[in-house]
Formats: sequence, C-alpha cells, structure tokens
Amino acid sequence: MTSGHLISERLLQAAAALKEANAEALLVSNLVNIRYLTGFTGSNALLIVLPDRFVFWTDPRYTLQAKAEVGAETLIERGPLYLVAEKWLARRRFRAVGFERESLRFDQFEILTKRLKLLPVSGLVERIRMVKSADEIEKIRAAVRTNSKAFDLAVKSVKAGMTESAFAGLIDYRMRQAGAEGTAFETIVSSGTRTALPHARPDNTPLAAGGLVLVDMGARQDGYTSDMTRMLHLGEPKRKTREVYAAVLEAQLAAIDAVRPGIAASKVDGVARGVLERHGWADQFVHSTGHGLGLEIHEDPRIGKKSKARLEAGMVITIEPGVYLEGWGGIRIEDTVVVTASGCEVLTPTPKGLRIVNSTVT
Ligand code: ZN
Ligand code: ZN
Repeated sequence: MTSGHLISERLLQAAAALKEANAEALLVSNLVNIRYLTGFTGSNALLIVLPDRFVFWTDPRYTLQAKAEVGAETLIERGPLYLVAEKWLARRRFRAVGFERESLRFDQFEILTKRLKLLPVSGLVERIRMVKSADEIEKIRAAVRTNSKAFDLAVKSVKAGMTESAFAGLIDYRMRQAGAEGTAFETIVSSGTRTALPHARPDNTPLAAGGLVLVDMGARQDGYTSDMTRMLHLGEPKRKTREVYAAVLEAQLAAIDAVRPGIAASKVDGVARGVLERHGWADQFVHSTGHGLGLEIHEDPRIGKKSKARLEAGMVITIEPGVYLEGWGGIRIEDTVVVTASGCEVLTPTPKGLRIVNSTVT
C-alpha cells in the first residue's frame, strides 16, 4: 500500500538529516528503519543513505521481494553484507560514515572500522518515524480495531479455572483470526496478586473466581502495532478494587485530556502522576505514562518524567497509568491515542470500565 512517492520522501528526509549528524553517509542497519525508508520487509538488508543516492543490499533469497518492495537502487549480494558495504564505502573513500549505534554488533563494528571513520548516530531515522503519515495512522487504527475485536471475542470464553497461559493463547488465536499477522509483543495475562507485576509473563496460575485479571495485548497488522490494557474481574469486585480502579481511570482520562500538540510529554506524565498522588498512590505508579508506537511497540516519544519531547500532531502514543500493590494486585488501563491538530483522538474502541465476568469454575 505504501506508494513509491512516500518512500522516496522518507529517504530524502533521512538524507537531509545526514548534514545535522555531520556525516557523509549513513549506514542503516536497523531492519525496522530499513523497512520504514525503503518498504523492504525481509530479514537481511543494509542501506546506505547518501545526500543524493541510496544503496540497498540484500541476499538472493530476497531478489523478487526486493524488486517488488524497495524504492531504491538494489544490489543482491551473497555473504555478509557488512563486508560488501565496507568495501563499497572504502573504495569510494568516504570519510565520516554514520552508523546506528543501537543496532550494530561489535564484530560488525570491528569490520567497518578498519578503513572507515565511523561516526555513531543515534535516533536519526527514529526521529523521522515519530510523526506518522495519514496512511500509517490508518494502519495503526486497523491494528487497534483488530486488537479490540480479539479482546471481545476472547473475553466471551474466559472462565475461572482457565490458566493465565491458556487465556493468553486464546487471545493470540483470536487476534490472528480477526486479521492480525501476529502479536506486537508477548501477550500479558496476570491474575490475582500477580497483577502487581507490571510485566508479568502468563504462567499456569489458574484464574481465580472472585479475582482480578490484567490483560495487556497488541495486534500487529500490516507491520503496525497496537497496545491496550484492560482489567477483568471474575465475579463482583470488593470496594478497594473499585476504589483503586476509579483512581487509575481518573488518572488515565486526565492524561488523555492533556494530550495536544505543543505540550511537553513530561507534562502529560505529570498530569497522570498528579491524580494518583492525590489518591495516595504516587509511589505505586512505578513506570512512565506511555510511549510512542508504530512499526515497533515502543517508539519515541516516551511519555515519562524525564522525557524532553514535545507532542506533535500525527504522533501515536499510549496512555497507561497503573497502580501496583505488593501482595494485593495491580490495575492498569491503557489506550492508543493519536495527537491531532486540536487535541487527540482515542483510537481504542473498547469500553474502559472494569469488565465484570460472572464466571463459574469448570
Ligand atoms: Zn500495553
Ligand atoms: Zn504500552
């Protein structure tokens, strides 16, 4: 669906960013960045961005795919692509070759540094990826819808006695059935006191009647991710559960309300934190309020205390405050939202109340 026009525009943006990095060339090794810039979805490639030229390498397994996907000069090579790129750059006597410091192995660095002067570059393509095009927002919207549909279908079958792991497996199956190509991250299902672990890995704990269940799930569709956390309660919740839930929901709604272009990401985080502080749960909110998402589940900007980013229209972020109490449990509510010209639009259609499931042990 991505047009060649759009791809060349992205490559041109990357070429323009070279100057700021004081590099003559940029070696792009992060496959997600390569996908963003060229459209290539395979698993082995290298890209060189020059001020006026783009060179893309992959191996013979991807000859046909590269022909169909890549909007740049394509070279097919056997053997390690790093050796090929090093030769190509050294022969042309490039000085100051930028490389992506977060996605180069040390042995690859050793090969490249023999003859080239390497310049570590951080987040150059990631910064371009922060603001999404209309086409990307539609892809994220579709992934969000699929995710919510899968959640609704999976919740219909949840029962006390089912293990966390089985419920997570059911969710993953429903995602694919609803149109996802897979999950954007390992589905989190935790129950009872284990909900106090913000990133619990589902295990063989049976979901208890009368207990909380935390579900954090994201479908991946057309390469794009989605992210949502909802809480279920098997049977009627106690008063404390309702109280903590209400506080987290208040924090989440207040933070969403604060999202608009120009606001500091740290300020959005501060709004959520402020609400939970008023309820006495400031120290129990142990993570940041949210993160950008797109081709990857965690992208810039981060919506946290220390974030230096300002929100811009077209950024897609999550808002996900939570409260975690050791020995009791935790509550998190998470939506995916897009920053618009006047504020934001919540993409996640799933209702946000505590979902009470009246279920009996089978
Ligand atoms: Zn999540
Ligand atoms: Zn998230």
